[in-house]
Amino acid sequence: VEHAAIYTPAGRALYYRRSWPGYPYQVTIPIGKTGLIQGNMFAHNHPRGESFSAEDIWILLRHGAHDVRVFEPERSFRIAASSSTRRFGWADQESGWREVELAYERAVASLGGRYAPLVQTGRMPPVQAWAAQTHAVVRKMAMRFGFLHREV
Ligand SMILES: [Zn+2]
Repeated sequence: VEHAAIYTPAGRALYYRRSWPGYPYQVTIPIGKTGLIQGNMFAHNHPRGESFSAEDIWILLRHGAHDVRVFEPERSFRIAASSSTRRFGWADQESGWREVELAYERAVASLGGRYAPLVQTGRMPPVQAWAAQTHAVVRKMAMRFGFLHREV
């Protein structure tokens, strides 16, 4: 299952949620709780090993998380803002999200040619290929929107 939590920089848990039964790979922070993210850490796991989603990146760029961490079965990563990170404010809510989502989709599409043949020829299981593809997507997103991306 997927778990998500918001922590202060000092490590105090402000919020915790786990995925709903039947939806093991999805956990969301309710709109009313997104205010807790500002300046804090949003930590969650991806049981299938994929990297940050467009929504995870939006949490950093729009909701002002100090950092966002994802725990995969074998590795963990963080994304964090730097002085050159492009931020989106309340006024950019809709257009900003569309821009981030589109950039993510385009990166997925542009990298598909690298991974699809591996799956089609049976050299890589689909779940593993998707995980590798999303890691490459996030590296592109980090360059485009100027955030830090590190294994931790
Ligand atoms: Zn996520």
